[in-house]
Amino acid sequence: MRAPHAAAVRAVYARLLEGYGPQGWWPAETPFEVMVGAILTQNAAWANVERAIARLRAAGLLAPEALAALPPEAIAPHIRPAGYFNVKARRLAAYCRWYLAAGGLEGLARRPTEALRRALLAVHGVGPETADDILLYAFGRPVFVIDAYTRRIFSRLGLAEAGWGYERLRAWFEAALEPDPDLFGEYHALIVRHAKAACRKRPACAGCVLRGDCSTGAGA
Ligand code: SF4
Repeated sequence: MRAPHAAAVRAVYARLLEGYGPQGWWPAETPFEVMVGAILTQNAAWANVERAIARLRAAGLLAPEALAALPPEAIAPHIRPAGYFNVKARRLAAYCRWYLAAGGLEGLARRPTEALRRALLAVHGVGPETADDILLYAFGRPVFVIDAYTRRIFSRLGLAEAGWGYERLRAWFEAALEPDPDLFGEYHALIVRHAKAACRKRPACAGCVLRGDCSTGAGA
């Protein structure tokens, strides 16, 4: 039986898709590039992540073997545009060592989703959002990614509580939708697009594609 909030969650998706069109995420050429991007995008604007990835590619370092072979201090200068580059260099190095030891993409792809998620969360510097970005966009698993934008939009809509934790909100989405990785990936991308285009810290409710269904926008 579908959750009581399913119709509302699906209606928001339909309006966002109609308003913005398909977003075509994740912008990467390979699953490994998705993983690198997911680690570098922590507290960083995507444009800066792209610059860091371009520098890694130009240096021949956009491969797990190449990054695992370097000490973090040798990785850090290449990812400087992404910010927190010393921290992220340690995280990238740790991730690549774990990734190779676990059998790389093929070895990890054989693991069931919950086991893979637990393993990702045990890697240095990988939190729930990063793990779920990787599960969804690199491994094609039906795991809904939660971020600050998701929490902001759905609490303003009056559908979710702002104080819900990550796992509660993730379970809430997953109970409302078919477990379809393409749907989950597109929905998360549309949420990010909407948070940047209209539902910013100071929301631009006039003309918002969700205004008709939004308890915040209705009074704005
Ligand atoms: S109407 Fe305003 S608060 Fe509601 S989703 Fe749109 S921008 Fe956000």
